[in-house]
Amino acid sequence: TPDVLPLVAGNWKMNGTRASLDQIKAIAEGVDTPLSDKVETLICPPATLLYVATALCDDSPLEIGAQDCHHKQFGAHTGDLSADMIADCFGTFVIVGHSERRTDHAETDELVRAKAQAAHAAELVAIICIGETADERKSGKTLDVLKRQLAASVPDGATAENTVIAYEPVWAIGTGLTPTVEDVAEAHAFMRAELVARFRAEGRGMRILYGGSVKPSNAAELMAVANVDGALIGGASLKAEDFLAIWAVY
Ligand code: PEP
Repeated sequence: TPDVLPLVAGNWKMNGTRASLDQIKAIAEGVDTPLSDKVETLICPPATLLYVATALCDDSPLEIGAQDCHHKQFGAHTGDLSADMIADCFGTFVIVGHSERRTDHAETDELVRAKAQAAHAAELVAIICIGETADERKSGKTLDVLKRQLAASVPDGATAENTVIAYEPVWAIGTGLTPTVEDVAEAHAFMRAELVARFRAEGRGMRILYGGSVKPSNAAELMAVANVDGALIGGASLKAEDFLAIWAVY
């Protein structure tokens, strides 16, 4: 999308101990080049590493974010993490509605929307994940699913600055499978039209990432598709070398 700063984001999921801070450090150093004026970079490590990771990135353009937040500001929610806590650790982004959370924790569009609102209230950028399952794609329902998820998971207060959409076909996550560039182009053009219809100029500037088995070998062709404004990367973000190779396609 013209005039949009692309975002290359890594989602470490439930991977990473203190030993993995080496990888964060290598990424922080690797992105400390003039290319960082043209592309934003983010790693979302597990919450245990959040605070140390942001300290490591103090002098680097690398941003650090979290993988989920609770929809309430604080309270009796054992094991949960609030958006304010993430901001307090100097995190700047939070992923909400990842398909693994929608499946493992039965998160609904309504809950995901509430989480995005909580992120906005804490001045975090919400990366809202959507995407169809294999069955939905096979039965030709992909665009209907994206329309419904965008309508229900993205809050009214979403702006180009506080919200990023991540399109992640569920069947492409961690499988090595990716949609064709034609299918990616169709989905992203559709999402763009939906966002512009609802949010006008803000919808034009909202970044729409592609996610699902992005690796160094396929990143260039996926990132070149119209309305693809960056990537959300799982497996290939765990190794600095692979992540930086994807990042460098910009
Ligand atoms: C993800 O889960 O956000 C993801 C895109 O995973 P992977 O790159 O491993 O398919």
